[in-house]
Amino acid sequence: MTDCIFCKIVAKEIPAEIVYEDDNFLAFLDINPRSPGHCQVIPKQHFRWVWNVPNVGEYFEVAKKIALAQQKSFNQEAIWSRIMGDEITHAHIWIFPHAETIGDKNDFAGNAEKIKNALAHLK
Ligand SMILES: [Zn+2]
Repeated sequence: MTDCIFCKIVAKEIPAEIVYEDDNFLAFLDINPRSPGHCQVIPKQHFRWVWNVPNVGEYFEVAKKIALAQQKSFNQEAIWSRIMGDEITHAHIWIFPHAETIGDKNDFAGNAEKIKNALAHLK
């Protein structure tokens, strides 16, 4: 979809702090974070709802990786997630650490670096 902001992030037409990318999925920092390291995990192909994604098991494996990396990055066990879909019409899973006091949520480059580093060391 040409007017979809998430499709534009996938196409790299809009910059984003991307922390994870594979053939089918992308994870990047939310521009209005609830807490430090707040990520959106999306399929690269445009689907309206998470429940439309055919390989949804693989999708949730990626969401899990991001959550585990956030646990490690911010030394925070409680990682929250949310699936709604009303704000942006491209399937997305919110993954964000519970506490706001674990760092600066607006340090996008620093938080992305922490998550990427933790992802690289995940088993
Ligand atoms: Zn889209």
